[in-house]
Amino acid sequence: MNALAERIAALVAAQGPISIADFMTLASGQYYATRDPFGSEGDFITAPEISQVFGELLGLWCVQVWHDQGRPKPARLVELGPGRGTLMADALRAARLAPEFLDGLDIVLVEASPGLRAIQEETLKGLGVRWTDRFDSQLSDRPLFLIANEFFDALPIRQYVKTVHGWRERMVTLSNGKLDFALSPVAVPDALIPASRADAPDGAVYEVCQPALSLVDEIARIVAIQGGGALIVDYGYDGVDFGETLQAIADQSFAAILDDPGESDLSAHVDFLSLAATAARAGAAVFGPATQAAFLDDLGIVRRFEHLATRNPRATTDLWPQLDRLVSPDQMGTLFKALAILPRTVSNPPGF
Ligand code: SAH
Repeated sequence: MNALAERIAALVAAQGPISIADFMTLASGQYYATRDPFGSEGDFITAPEISQVFGELLGLWCVQVWHDQGRPKPARLVELGPGRGTLMADALRAARLAPEFLDGLDIVLVEASPGLRAIQEETLKGLGVRWTDRFDSQLSDRPLFLIANEFFDALPIRQYVKTVHGWRERMVTLSNGKLDFALSPVAVPDALIPASRADAPDGAVYEVCQPALSLVDEIARIVAIQGGGALIVDYGYDGVDFGETLQAIADQSFAAILDDPGESDLSAHVDFLSLAATAARAGAAVFGPATQAAFLDDLGIVRRFEHLATRNPRATTDLWPQLDRLVSPDQMGTLFKALAILPRTVSNPPGF
């Protein structure tokens, strides 16, 4: 067992089994604090690391939404979980087309990992951005433009399993001295299981990401009252889908979830319909989820790539595989989705 596994084992020995959410919080905290996981050398590659066009289009999305709402000022641009800072750098470069949007804009990066924050400081030097380690009510006093790419999938989930005795939470415990999963003997309160899942067959797994729902509720309230727009892009599902999606990735392949905590990236599919319902209940208008392919296509991704290819013909052999990776159905095009949260008073944002 590695050092973090030993610590978790000691915790379980002292106080009993912990939830998968608590396990994820400990393991992901250490994972992001101790490395730069992105890129071809890292554990996984994200859309902004594939092509500059991704961040550029998201930046222009914010500018257009700002424009459609009568250019409110002063506004705030927030990115959740900015990774290497690449997306924000590309977004701000594209947004220079609208200097008025950037003028006086409060740009805030929400990042919990000190190591990644140091990389972001390097990438975004001189661009007037600031950092905070969590999204909170201090960000509620202005129109809010918010981008989150592959952030929500990293937030801690709980898993409930349907058994002959009803729903039980899957916990992390110790068996024969090793970390292992086990069902809690305690019944899950009915109120935690949505009606749509009440008739699930035995063995069905229901995952819920409470921090994601709370965060979307808070973001939607701010957008509904102050104006602005939030764009959530992530991998996930857009139907009522049963099943277990928690996964660990290391070196671009699947790893065992409990074997080496803190050494692999833990994530789960984002439940887009629950996020959408939460935002609507909070008083906002919701657009999507649209597939990443449909969303980027509507924003003109093909034209942008053609433009880059014309300007730099020698790079074309690199460009087309990048486009393919972002929009092909067998790559990120269908699995990844985009969801927009806007005030109820506005019409469709670009991309939807
Ligand atoms: N958006 C980036 C990186 C995605 S990885 C990209 O597309 O490349 C997830 C990011 O979220 C990392 O920067 C990680 O450190 C950060 N993160 C994960 N959980 C967090 C939390 N609870 N609070 C703040 N940041 C978090």
